[in-house]
Amino acid sequence: MKRDRISDGVYVFTSGLYAEVTATVIFTDEGAILVDTLPFPQETRQVRDFIAQRRSKVLYVVNTHSHADHIYGTYLFPEAEVVAHYLCRRLMEKHAEAALAEAKRQTPQLAEVRIRYPELLFNEKMTLRVGGKTIELDYSPGHSRDVITVHAVEDRLMVASDTVMPVPYVVGGDLDDMIQSLLAIRQKGLENLVQGHGEVLLRGEIEETLDHNIQYLKNLDRQVREHIARGVPRTGILGITIEDCGLSRIPLGGLVQKLHQANLLTLYDAYRTEMRARR
Ligand SMILES: [Zn+2]
Repeated sequence: MKRDRISDGVYVFTSGLYAEVTATVIFTDEGAILVDTLPFPQETRQVRDFIAQRRSKVLYVVNTHSHADHIYGTYLFPEAEVVAHYLCRRLMEKHAEAALAEAKRQTPQLAEVRIRYPELLFNEKMTLRVGGKTIELDYSPGHSRDVITVHAVEDRLMVASDTVMPVPYVVGGDLDDMIQSLLAIRQKGLENLVQGHGEVLLRGEIEETLDHNIQYLKNLDRQVREHIARGVPRTGILGITIEDCGLSRIPLGGLVQKLHQANLLTLYDAYRTEMRARR
């Protein structure tokens, strides 16, 4: 696992075990805020030990959405209050226990994980004031319906969760919502942006990266519709490469290519259904 100090009292941990997923610690004089908790306890414990070594304690854990790789480590912070979107809690109540039981069958390292449910919930927006820092939480749907972002206002830093990753991933989410959420982040005037997966983005590259991601989604939308109009079959849609849509296949050890293909198939199915409904 990698640890980077990205601003005064702000550290990002990047998993070496699962898809470069990130967890972010924001220290304040009163205590720490931990945004996301990684999937594997052995890495989450390193985050917990680091916070303890700095003689701080976690006041809040933010679950940015209900996907396993962001929430499984939460049970290791029983002293903290857990914050999330209402829909995150609702989706967890529906799916988390069954999904975890299945994951444990496949992955022995998860044996001791327990689901810890968020209890401090909101809909559109919530502000935390901790130790002189202003932390704004905003609804940011697109990747899934329950994503939130975390903006440390004085640090001009945003933990953008899976709204920003090396390829926008809309399976289980919504492409138009994703574009709106990316545009909302673009307006914030940020110094640092922590992606849900992959490298931290610095000031000079944030707007350009967001623009590329928005353009990717627009290209994807247009090209899938064009292929369907031309009668290309479902598997033929995979001929649209990630480069055709304006992004690189290199990040996340090549995983982006798989995410891109899942985007293609999901949009193909959705647009076909839409077109049939119109007839
Ligand atoms: Zn996710």
